[in-house]
Amino acid sequence: MLHNVKVVLVGTSHSGNIGSAARAMKVMGLTNLVLVDPQCSVDEQTMALASGAGEIAQNAKIVSSLDEAVSDCQLVVGSSARSRTLEWPMLEPRECGRKFVEEGESSPVALVFGRERTGLTNEELQKCHFHVCIPANPEYSSLNLAMAVQTLSYEVRMAYLEKERAAFPKAEIPEYSRHEEFEMLLQHIEKVIKLTGFINDGQPNKVMTKLRRLFSRARPEVQEINMLRGVLTSVEKMNKN
Ligand code: SAH
Repeated sequence: MLHNVKVVLVGTSHSGNIGSAARAMKVMGLTNLVLVDPQCSVDEQTMALASGAGEIAQNAKIVSSLDEAVSDCQLVVGSSARSRTLEWPMLEPRECGRKFVEEGESSPVALVFGRERTGLTNEELQKCHFHVCIPANPEYSSLNLAMAVQTLSYEVRMAYLEKERAAFPKAEIPEYSRHEEFEMLLQHIEKVIKLTGFINDGQPNKVMTKLRRLFSRARPEVQEINMLRGVLTSVEKMNKN
């Protein structure tokens, strides 16, 4: 579904930002970049900042209007540093990621970013179903364009991974030993280390408390308890011979 997520940059004026945005996308598994009326070209600076993600910038589709960029999308979300300048449905970044993953399963969806200096116009914002605002420091809330792309792409990826994980059966919970089995192991250890002379009858407590703490931290499984009991029995047998 990640290929259905379009990152749309409107009116970008610094070519380096296109490269940084491409890189931000690629690390999160997004590939579909659309440039609306860019005020710069994909140049050397773009490629330098894209690092290994140059192909995303080079393959970016260039269109002249936002309408054209999102014409095939069933969900369009505009990102804005200014929350609630318009009375418009808002999404939290996390919700936004989840919505993209849900709806991106079946149709292209778009995440729209504005100009470095002026953001998105009201007209552009009104073409979006929802707005998303990264809840940054209220006194300094405007992220660099590519960093805003990074933050929201990360949310899309987290939602995507969450969904992937949910599709797999959970790892089985091991069969931990029951209390009684655990107590019997400790009694067995105590018996054997008295037999071998590691502790004597007088002061077993400290050692036994430390061993209890060690095994309780380890949370041995039934199989492991059985194996340890086997080891102890083999020591007992050797001692008899
Ligand atoms: N001065 C502009 C900020 C532009 S930053 C303004 O007031 O809108 C360039 C783009 O990065 C923005 O248009 C927006 O798409 C994105 N962006 C920056 N900070 C953001 C934030 N806190 N939340 C959501 N998007 C943000």
